[in-house]
Amino acid sequence: MKCRKCGRPAVVNMRQHKLALCGACFSDWFVEQTRKNIERYEMFDPGDRVLVAVSGGKDSLALWDVLLKLGYEVEGVYIDLGIEGGGYSARSRCRVEAFAESRGVPIAIVDLKAAYGKSVPDMARERRGRTYCSLCGLVKRHEMNRVAYEGGFAALATGHNLDDETATLLQNTLRWEMGYLARQAPVLPSIHPRFARKVKPLCRMTERETASYAIVRNIDYIYDECPHATRATSIFHKELLNRLETRSRGAKLSFYLNFLRARESFKVPEVSLDICKRCGQPTAAPEICAFCRLWEGSEG
Ligand code: SF4
Ligand code: ZN
Repeated sequence: MKCRKCGRPAVVNMRQHKLALCGACFSDWFVEQTRKNIERYEMFDPGDRVLVAVSGGKDSLALWDVLLKLGYEVEGVYIDLGIEGGGYSARSRCRVEAFAESRGVPIAIVDLKAAYGKSVPDMARERRGRTYCSLCGLVKRHEMNRVAYEGGFAALATGHNLDDETATLLQNTLRWEMGYLARQAPVLPSIHPRFARKVKPLCRMTERETASYAIVRNIDYIYDECPHATRATSIFHKELLNRLETRSRGAKLSFYLNFLRARESFKVPEVSLDICKRCGQPTAAPEICAFCRLWEGSEG
């Protein structure tokens, strides 16, 4: 098969777009699609400073690479959660640091244990009230918001791809979680001056396309999933959606885009926010935010 653009041998065949491309043309295509996505959903402007949340996986490192290629002023943030299984956190941190060094770009590393005295596994052993992933999610959200606010960033970008978005969408639709559905979008505007806008520039790119980009660009990413991801229901929903895609080409993208159209008539519930008396972050909880309560031992 030949590259549609230049005639060299194709290395990526995207059946849903009826497009086969060689490595160089695919890389250009991927960057251009991301640029269009940023403009289409008005994620940020050329002068904005953007913080990209990186995990060491293909999606977030690919996103960081694309944003740099597009010329944005972008820095990375990595939260070292201290997840032990097979040295997951240590190995992913190495990938992130190596990427930042190779591109000569700044990275903020938040080492949870060094900063707060406990890693996520330490807390998970103590707190039985929350699942491992909900604990981890709470910590990541809090710390990313903090770094984005303290660094004065206009937007916090994450590497969620189309497969992630449709799996979440399926999960929320099966339960008719209207609050979550209303808040699922390529851009979540800031709801408080201390919260940065949240953006997902890769939301229309499939997992396979993102992985192909990372490979074509020689990005050294951590291939393994977090050891706790195996229990995640999102993996099951991704499998279901892949089966649907095999039967009906383009089904994932159409599911997502039709949802975004329908979502325009949803009412996003208003949340009233107070300021946490400990850390100063906006919170829907009374007086002390859920993150600060974790360390005080009043939860669980
Ligand atoms: Fe955290 Fe791993 Fe769960 Fe993801 S899968 S939320 S990284 S514990
Ligand atoms: Zn707090």
